[in-house]
Amino acid sequence: MKVPFLDLGRQHAPLTEELDAGFRRVLRSGDFILGKEVESFEKAFAEHLGAPYAAGVGSGTEALHLSLRALGIGPGDEVIIPSLTFAATALAVLHAGAEPVPADVDPDTGLLDLASAAKAVTRRTRAVIPVHLYGRMLDMDALMDFAVRRHLAVIEDACQAHGARFHGKAAGTFGRVGCFSFYPSKNLGALGDGGLVVTSDSTLRDIIVKLRNYGQKVKYHHEGIGYNSRLDGLQAAMLRLKLKHLETWNLRRRRNARLYHRALKGLPVVLPPEPPEDSQHVYHLFVIRSPHRDRLRDHLAKCGVGTGIHYPIPMHRMEALSKCGRVRLPASERFCGEVLSLPMFPELTAEEIRHVARSIESFRP
Ligand SMILES: *Cc1c(COP(=O)(O)O)cnc(C)c1O
Repeated sequence: MKVPFLDLGRQHAPLTEELDAGFRRVLRSGDFILGKEVESFEKAFAEHLGAPYAAGVGSGTEALHLSLRALGIGPGDEVIIPSLTFAATALAVLHAGAEPVPADVDPDTGLLDLASAAKAVTRRTRAVIPVHLYGRMLDMDALMDFAVRRHLAVIEDACQAHGARFHGKAAGTFGRVGCFSFYPSKNLGALGDGGLVVTSDSTLRDIIVKLRNYGQKVKYHHEGIGYNSRLDGLQAAMLRLKLKHLETWNLRRRRNARLYHRALKGLPVVLPPEPPEDSQHVYHLFVIRSPHRDRLRDHLAKCGVGTGIHYPIPMHRMEALSKCGRVRLPASERFCGEVLSLPMFPELTAEEIRHVARSIESFRP
């Protein structure tokens, strides 16, 4: 039996007619750049999260970058990020001309550790980017308290957490801005690149809307240094159709996580900790840990099981962030050496999960 790490074909097959009709609608309308399709999706996504405003942009990286720019963060400023994240979190800070300062993560959850973040704060720190990694939210009461006390702007990296909730409130709606990616493999994915910023601050939304469109509010009147970073009309149309399925897909991811937990209990691997009672993890990834990660990964490949590593190098060891010097962030380093992502997508079957579990059980380190 072969179990793919991800199979988007299974997600799209039942939607083919719907997506086709959407494609033809956009083709007829000619609304390719901004326009009605983008506005409708922005509205639908904001409503889904309970956020007042949204602005579609070119990618998740750009959602973070334009948010930093809109908040006036740039050269001379420092931004705290978790060392365990996808590199785009750090790259966006560098694009804005500011300095990303990696802090360590919690040794159980892999999410930003506030004690380590507190040590990283200097007079130049302007913002903190909590990353809801793997689809699990940080304790946002603690994070917001941490940021408010230090007058730091909160930019949520919710690129892996579409629909995740903490005390009933959606990821992306706690900070000044919440940033999303619609890269095809995300919980809500476009058929190409895309991203979006949500905010409750209409001024910030207006600035981002200007920045994404060459810095112009009125055509050919460029008020600032803008970019070409927009969500395509076609992608917005596809995303609006797919948004209707997001909750069902997230429920299935949670069911799959429960099946994994049951099947893997007692085996010599560390399972992802269960989220607190009143929070909803959306399992963008199902990440286990093993001190024999690389050999376990080879063994699973031989059993036909696709896996991933999210992520192999912590940010403070990344060449692009060479300014970090020789700090030690032990929990991040440990995660990077031990994490292994198992197949996780809504359409994964119970039979496939059993095969993954049996394959892990037959591993001899
Ligand atoms: C995917 C991702 C991004 C970047 O999104 P893109 O759309 O690929 O630019 C940023 N941060 C995290 C945590 C991500 O997973």
